Amino acid sequence: MPDIAALYTNHYDETEVYRQVSALLDALHVPDDVKPGMKVVLKLNLLTGRAPEYCVTTHPSVVRAVALYLREHGITDITAADSPGGPFTVEALTNIYKACRMLPLEEEGLLKLNRDVSWKTVSCPEGFTVKSFNRISVIADADYVINLAKMKTHGMVRFTCGIKNLFGTIPGLQKPEMHYRYPNLKEFSHMLVELARSAHPAVTLVDAIDAMEGDGPHGGTVRHVGLLLASRDIFTLDYVAAQVAGIDPLSVGMIADAVENGLVKEKEISYPLDTPKPLEVPFTLPKATDILFLSRFPAFLRKPVQKVASVLFHPVPKLDPSKCVGCGRCAESCPRHLITVSGGKAHFTRKDCISCFCCQEMCPMKAIGVKRLLG
Ligand code: SF4
Ligand code: SF4
Repeated sequence: MPDIAALYTNHYDETEVYRQVSALLDALHVPDDVKPGMKVVLKLNLLTGRAPEYCVTTHPSVVRAVALYLREHGITDITAADSPGGPFTVEALTNIYKACRMLPLEEEGLLKLNRDVSWKTVSCPEGFTVKSFNRISVIADADYVINLAKMKTHGMVRFTCGIKNLFGTIPGLQKPEMHYRYPNLKEFSHMLVELARSAHPAVTLVDAIDAMEGDGPHGGTVRHVGLLLASRDIFTLDYVAAQVAGIDPLSVGMIADAVENGLVKEKEISYPLDTPKPLEVPFTLPKATDILFLSRFPAFLRKPVQKVASVLFHPVPKLDPSKCVGCGRCAESCPRHLITVSGGKAHFTRKDCISCFCCQEMCPMKAIGVKRLLG
């Protein structure tokens, strides 16, 4: 029976967050499996270097609370890690740790921030179709992984929480390569489910005190939800988290794939603490994935309408040149190499675009929007 431990909490006050996180991890009986001497890794969402108030990254108060809790249970080898968007280098990590205000946690002696940029191939014989993944060494070598995700909308996959957070276990620019290998949303979603099955974090904790809606996972707007959620069952947790956000879980490819593969136990959930409720006003979806109009059609018409719509409403990136500073981060992230920078601006070739929106995700200036043939 999957336990979803949830607690409503309104702000990132360190003492309050520590109290709530401790209650969540107690409810999941984490002290029963952590032992002194273990190498514990906290897998954060550090997509890019943004201050915590922008809600792009896991909030430092949440990371701090988990590290403190582990220390109080005798764990001293704690490393916070992620492979953010862009190159996986010590320099890039250092800048991101600083911008996301993670450095004080290390200075306080609570944890180490990972600076090992090596990676390993890990075989996953239990995978349905994918039998190995390249994974950053710090995660590959961990005894125990706690997945600290952020609740956000996402331009390609619609909604990101626990499952998608594990995409950051794949090293640096190998992530765009994965988009190249799995170019359509269905294949990509299935790969994410395989990745989550094989990474198998002991616990996933979702920071949804302040989340992100709209053009996430980077360029959206802050949405206060006031909730922390945790579970040992990452798939059922994401299912519940999507419902909280007012998003149909089956409209999120990776959750639908997990349901199809019998990984979501939505009928057996128990809530040992608060019972999370869907928001009265659902999250605003990213422009790239907003196909809610389909729900206005009778069920038997949705498939043919979707077919026509996928051509007419197919989203591609659109540059706002007045915001572009020519930094090239979009070009670096494009799995199809469709972007060049010249004259201080990005230029897009849209033929062969797979609408992954990695470019939009990585643009620090919010210069990339969405365009469709219609709409
Ligand atoms: S142009 Fe943007 S959306 Fe299109 S393939 Fe490249 S990164 Fe993906
Ligand atoms: S579109 Fe954004 S990421 Fe790309 S060059 Fe311009 S500012 Fe940089």
